[in-house]
Amino acid sequence: MEKKNIDWSNLGFGYIQTELRYVSCYKEGAWDEGTLTGDANVVLNECAGVLQYAQTIFEGLKAYTTDDGHIVAFRPDLNGERMEASARRLEMPVFSKERFVDAVTKVVSANAAYVPPYGSGATLYIRPYMFGVNSVIGVKPAEEYQFRIFCTPVGPYFKGGARPLTICVSDFDRAAPHGTGNIKAGLNYAMSLHPIVKAHREGFDENLYLDPGTRTKVEETGGANFLFVTKDGGIVTPKSDSILPSITRRSLMHVAREYLNLKVEEREVYLEEVKDFAECGLCGTAAVISPVGKIVDHGREICLPSGMTEMGPVTRKLYDTLTGIQMGRIEAPRGWIHVIE
Ligand SMILES: *Cc1c(COP(=O)(O)O)cnc(C)c1O
Repeated sequence: MEKKNIDWSNLGFGYIQTELRYVSCYKEGAWDEGTLTGDANVVLNECAGVLQYAQTIFEGLKAYTTDDGHIVAFRPDLNGERMEASARRLEMPVFSKERFVDAVTKVVSANAAYVPPYGSGATLYIRPYMFGVNSVIGVKPAEEYQFRIFCTPVGPYFKGGARPLTICVSDFDRAAPHGTGNIKAGLNYAMSLHPIVKAHREGFDENLYLDPGTRTKVEETGGANFLFVTKDGGIVTPKSDSILPSITRRSLMHVAREYLNLKVEEREVYLEEVKDFAECGLCGTAAVISPVGKIVDHGREICLPSGMTEMGPVTRKLYDTLTGIQMGRIEAPRGWIHVIE
């Protein structure tokens, strides 16, 4: 298979249309068998459920080329499982995780020419999503849905090395207790746009959202979970029902425990104790871990001892180990690497 003529290492994070995407339709209580299509446009009725009441959920994962030349995806079953949970919470039909993995496999295979070569730092970003399509004017769930997956090649997240981020404690809330913070729904992103635009305007890279109930505990950013390193080298990650369960963060916790023999705790983390940590990172598919150098709480600066020039040593070890596992340089736990071809 001949690769597309793309300057892989200079790609940004944007949408590049590829030839084929997957679509399955849900009608009269059942999903059809699904198919690949060349049509990148979705035509909807003006009254479609997704347009009126935002009934839409999504996932994000990556396919890439390993050390030994295979095209693989990282733990797609967990994305499928999480999308099942998202669908249930928004009264959408479940597209099974088995079919999800099968559809991911088909889309990546069909677009193999767009999977960046090993060593380029680039990946094929995969975007599964589902939305209500029939007309809904009274507030209720749609009866017809589309599940779709497209993919787009994206560049290396850190061009020229990871730069530690400066983040600010937001006055806005991300997700209410017992709300939708733990599912991957478009609505959680719509409401985060104003706070992130404001944060960027004020010179920050990201927002740190607190728990809305007490505004004393760390939740997450708009799109990544927190991971902290204690001064004695242990890992702490916030526990809350309104945090999106990041697959990267869950994988890093496993790596910390099983590969690096570190103590790992998932517990409530108070903003007040952040000044006592040695390192801080943000976990998500896009960057794996982005180091955080500084957290600004209404003018009060909390500077992580790891500083503003590079990743802290424990964050670095976690990053190198997980990316090593992903790329096939380090043996992966059973089932983590889904070989596509
Ligand atoms: C997607 C997402 C993450 C990261 O999850 P991964 O599975 O690691 O990509 C973290 N927080 C939020 C709010 C998200 O939407």
